[in-house]
Amino acid sequence: MSNRRANAIAQDGADGIAPAVRGKLAKLGITTLCDLLLHLPLRYEDETRLCEIAAAPPGASVLVEAVVESSSVQYRPRRTLVCRVRDRSGELHLRFLNFYPSQIKQLVPGVRLRLLGEIRDGFFGAEMVHPRYRVVQEGAPLAQTLTPVYPTTAGLSQAVLGKLAQRALSACDLGDTLPAQWLQRLNLPAFESSIRLLHQPPPGTALPELVERRHPAWRRVKFDELLAQQLALRINHRNRHRRGAPALPACGQLTRALLERLPFALTKAQEHAWQDIARELAQPHPMQRLLQGDVGSGKTVVAALAALQAVENGCQAAVMAPTEILAEQHFRKFSEWLAPLGVEVAWLSGALRKKDRQAALQKVADGGAQVAVGTHALFQEQVAFQKLALAIVDEQHRFGVHQRLALHTKGAQGGEVPHQLMMSATPIPRTLAMSYYADLDVSVIAELPPGRTPVTTKLVDEQRRSEIVQRVRDACMAGGQAYWVCPLIEESEALQLQTALETHQTLLQTFPELKVGLVHGRLPQQEKAAVMEAFQRGDIHLLVATTVIEVGVDVPNATLMVIEHAERMGLSQLHQLRGRVGRGTAQSLCILLYQQPLGPTARERLKIIYENSDGFEVARHDLRLRGPGEFLGSRQSGMPILRFADLEADLDLLEAARGTAEQLLTSDMATVQRHLARWLGDRHNYLRV
Ligand code: ADP
Ligand code: MG
Repeated sequence: MSNRRANAIAQDGADGIAPAVRGKLAKLGITTLCDLLLHLPLRYEDETRLCEIAAAPPGASVLVEAVVESSSVQYRPRRTLVCRVRDRSGELHLRFLNFYPSQIKQLVPGVRLRLLGEIRDGFFGAEMVHPRYRVVQEGAPLAQTLTPVYPTTAGLSQAVLGKLAQRALSACDLGDTLPAQWLQRLNLPAFESSIRLLHQPPPGTALPELVERRHPAWRRVKFDELLAQQLALRINHRNRHRRGAPALPACGQLTRALLERLPFALTKAQEHAWQDIARELAQPHPMQRLLQGDVGSGKTVVAALAALQAVENGCQAAVMAPTEILAEQHFRKFSEWLAPLGVEVAWLSGALRKKDRQAALQKVADGGAQVAVGTHALFQEQVAFQKLALAIVDEQHRFGVHQRLALHTKGAQGGEVPHQLMMSATPIPRTLAMSYYADLDVSVIAELPPGRTPVTTKLVDEQRRSEIVQRVRDACMAGGQAYWVCPLIEESEALQLQTALETHQTLLQTFPELKVGLVHGRLPQQEKAAVMEAFQRGDIHLLVATTVIEVGVDVPNATLMVIEHAERMGLSQLHQLRGRVGRGTAQSLCILLYQQPLGPTARERLKIIYENSDGFEVARHDLRLRGPGEFLGSRQSGMPILRFADLEADLDLLEAARGTAEQLLTSDMATVQRHLARWLGDRHNYLRV
């Protein structure tokens, strides 16, 4: 907006806003007067009409006018100011637990009050606890609009926010960013009327529609917000796509050779995803694709095929994983598949001796190794490639948007950037994929390879531990292998480590006839790798582990998993953990040990994980329980979380915003700019690559 700068909340205080207030506004993300336009009420209070005491609906906040009959301080059960008031219809007790001496003087018989609060049935009849109140004269005028209640921060009153909002409404440009004919087509009201209504709803505006944000004015604001998000992400996508990338046509010698050597055929879903990728790699523009698939759906082989297409074209591919364990596993898988085809895979581990590391780096630099595998951290350091054409990032959900962009600039050569393939085993519900991931193209592997027997999940009270011990013994004696996952301890990594050590000790004693191993995050890399290898070979029967095994570990012979204190874990974590079993053809079992008493959320989570084996369903519930901010981890997502729109409830708006964004981007960049300026302002900058 052109007058945005003019309306910036002045640094010199010339706008009459005290510096202290400015600081508090900044905490709310408000830096310009116009930001206040979009700082919308959380809810409203209705002070436009009076309600009689006897007629107050239960559970609703009402405005009552009544006269004080008596008041006294009572001392039992605790010091309380109790005040009896009456209107035409009946009487009401007011209770104040915290009060000032001045209130005792103020609330004397005969005084007329307007009281705002919820009337409940108390021991002595109708009562209001801590009502907001005001002393009034008989016939005092009522409010002209519903009273907005804004999100705020300590020390910033509703009155101040209300006044500032009014100033914003008169000083800022409320002009529409969208052409009228678009609004008509979308059946949405004008921006100005919507925003005025939301700040100052006239009496008679349907309160439920406002509160539940179903009112057309809310829909307009939510649409605008979603449109801004779509536009920003699509522009981002477009800008990146405009850059050059090495074209990697599918010649097929190596990829075909791998497919022929595999002991299995690709599933239809893998085949589709692979086709998407192969086609895009052939383009002279960078692919930006997210490959989604539930745990065990077989993303790795698709990634290996992609890497081979780069190699066929005389280029290199990098494979990055978030943890050493996972990176090491990829290294093993890739080597097993690629080495027989004459492709050299370099291993870039933090644990390598200096000499080996130098040698690996050298091979990557001179092209002796065509594929390099390592942790993400490693690639952030100076790794020079001879000709990097494809970056594969596993478990993408662990990396935020920022990292996803940073990676992209890495390896840029002569203005060209590598293609990017991201993989995620945290299934992203469709609504989220449509919104937060709108800057990526998405392929989904929505089926598991054939022959998998679904994992059976059991919820077992911790008190029945001994039965579980027997079960583990039986399974291992019969040639199976098992994981024993230690509880997650939020507060302290050290404490978690201790628990893991203790659990390991206990289980060693419990199972003298079994080989019991231990793996946790603090183990030196080489030991960690050694333990994982021993487990893979079957030399360890029972692996005690912290949640480090959550990600990607693939040992098909492990068919039993015990998770301690499952009630402490999040849904996606439980699902990921459970995905470590059920990787072969044998029937697998996941036992979730829980400790009573269970809180309502823990209970619901356990129920969901018990009832659902499909990762997308689990993710959908997870999103519902936690909201997108938590689900993505706002820190990780690096994206402003939607403030107004609700992805589930506003799916129709999301779809409309998506379509509108596509059309605007091809036909009307002026509108696009106007809209983004209002919604993102300066924050728009971070999206530039
Ligand atoms: P994720 O998608 O969780 O990364 P992986 O790529 O680790 O899954 O695959 C899980 C297991 O399934 C691996 O052992 C892999 O070799 C195997 N696999 C992959 N694709 C198929 C297939 N089409 N048929 C049978 N097994 C497969
Ligand atoms: Mg994987």
